[in-house]
Amino acid sequence: MKLWITRPMTAAVEARARAEFDVHIRPDTGVLSRAEMERALRDYDVVMPTLGDLFSAEVIASVPDTRCRLLANFGVGYNHIDVSAARAAGIAVTNTPGAVTDATADIAMTLILMSARRAGEGERLVRSGSWRGWHPTQMLGLHVTGKTVGIIGLGRIGAAIGRRCHFGFGMKVLYTARSDKDPGYPVSRCDSVEEMAAQVDFLVVAVPGGAETRHLVDEGVLAAMQPHAHLINIARGEIVKESALIAALQDNQIAGAGLDVYEFEPKVPEALRGLDSVTLLPHLGTATEEVRTNMGHMALDNVAALAAGKPLPNPV
Ligand code: NAP
Repeated sequence: MKLWITRPMTAAVEARARAEFDVHIRPDTGVLSRAEMERALRDYDVVMPTLGDLFSAEVIASVPDTRCRLLANFGVGYNHIDVSAARAAGIAVTNTPGAVTDATADIAMTLILMSARRAGEGERLVRSGSWRGWHPTQMLGLHVTGKTVGIIGLGRIGAAIGRRCHFGFGMKVLYTARSDKDPGYPVSRCDSVEEMAAQVDFLVVAVPGGAETRHLVDEGVLAAMQPHAHLINIARGEIVKESALIAALQDNQIAGAGLDVYEFEPKVPEALRGLDSVTLLPHLGTATEEVRTNMGHMALDNVAALAAGKPLPNPV
């Protein structure tokens, strides 16, 4: 069982991989090149890819003599892998659901609070040395407690965000999804994203990326939002039409945005970087030692199951 781990992992994950498998760990932190993806499919039984490694139908078809039997994705989002093309080539795909839920919901709350309370702008003010002291109308933001949040996609992460908003901040929780949800606290389902956008103070994106959700948040949705409202995206960049978001922020159509992900990641347009009303994080959703270790163990559990001829715990 030859395994290729495509990025450095936490010490615990690397130690387990070395103990259990014939593993090669790529020292580079960047995304895989086309040549590397082709080599991965040709030379390894299992590959552990991650965000940004575009295993498209074209890449998969370009290696007809594939040795690879499993793409054990490191991460819950797998929109960078063409799952049906992989399946057709006899390659299973697994992901790491659950391990990422609370950490990503915490980053959504960080962005809600930072955007509403202008925390990034305030931090820049203090750091620049130009803060002249407290006064009653200094940097007034939006009060968060008791407001209304609209969550696009009340799945694992969406429901965890709603739980924090309801129990932690006494917020009313609206959502859109393909099916009715009962997360264990009060929620109301909206028929469309636009209808929900018009009613909320915070619109939070928590659906998976991919063709079906590309530009789900576009000019229409942004125009429906109230001028004091904030857009938060912790899911995938391409779900929000970035050019429309920049225009909405520049025209003060909405009050602010908190982003962990970007349409052309890691490229972040200068127009966004120049706006004080947007909080920009470098895709920190799952970035804690414990969570990245749990994700790595989950990916390795799938590798171990394949090696033992057992059913894969997390097939997609
Ligand atoms: P999940 O449990 O599968 O939940 C996805 C939710 O989106 C469900 O409510 C689902 O509705 C809804 N949905 C799926 N496809 C849809 C579509 N085409 N149109 C409308 N709604 C749709 O996924 P999760 O674990 O919460 O993760 C969500 C996403 O967060 C991941 O796919 C990943 O891209 C992203 N993520 C980001 C970070 C980060 O670092 N920022 C970390 C982890 C995850 P139904 O249940 O009704 O189908």
